[in-house]
Amino acid sequence: MVKDNISKIKAQIAHACAKSGRNANEVSIVAVTKARAPEDIEEVLRAGLTDVGENKIQEAVAKQAKVKGARWHFIGHLQTNKVKEAVRIFDLIQSVDSIHLAEEIDRQAQKIGKVQDILVEIKTSAEATKFGFLPLDLPRAIEEITKLKNINLAGLMTIAALTGAAEGSRPYFRILRELRDKINKDWILSMGMSDDFKIAIEEGSTMVRIGRAIFEG
Ligand SMILES: *Cc1c(COP(=O)(O)O)cnc(C)c1O
Repeated sequence: MVKDNISKIKAQIAHACAKSGRNANEVSIVAVTKARAPEDIEEVLRAGLTDVGENKIQEAVAKQAKVKGARWHFIGHLQTNKVKEAVRIFDLIQSVDSIHLAEEIDRQAQKIGKVQDILVEIKTSAEATKFGFLPLDLPRAIEEITKLKNINLAGLMTIAALTGAAEGSRPYFRILRELRDKINKDWILSMGMSDDFKIAIEEGSTMVRIGRAIFEG
């Protein structure tokens, strides 16, 4: 089932790319495996995906002990006291939502000689999430974060407001793309989930985070 669902999603991504004049290899898939078993992650890897997203540190630690060969993304709200562990185990921390958090990531990464790849989370809507920088605050955040030697700021992430229809996510995705285009066109744009990834791709997403459509499809 997972394999078929992933094939279906890849076809939908290809279609959305074609529709918007983009190349399908510009879009990567992060399989969101929060609350799924290690066996589920292995199935995802067997189906040819490499990137998986988790939102709880302890859960990810337990799964990493069992599952090898994945690239791990952190997509939840990260508390300062969990940063040390997060830096140890995650390839990309997608949800950096404060300067204070970035500074702690830098400090912990420096200790283990790592340059931690991160995305900055942006609050593109009032109700979508309690976390993330306001678009207005992004320039100053970037200025501060780029000073940190053990952090590589690789792009932006957002969660669209729940509107009950995929099309309703479009304005939030557009805000993120316009921000990105002003700053760095090569940056990753992590946006789009099971219900709205096609719209996200039309708006320029380069990384979709998909859970339900893979496991429940
Ligand atoms: C759960 C989650 C997803 C995946 O959501 P689905 O609707 O299951 O595709 C994507 N991004 C974040 C930040 C999540 O927490």
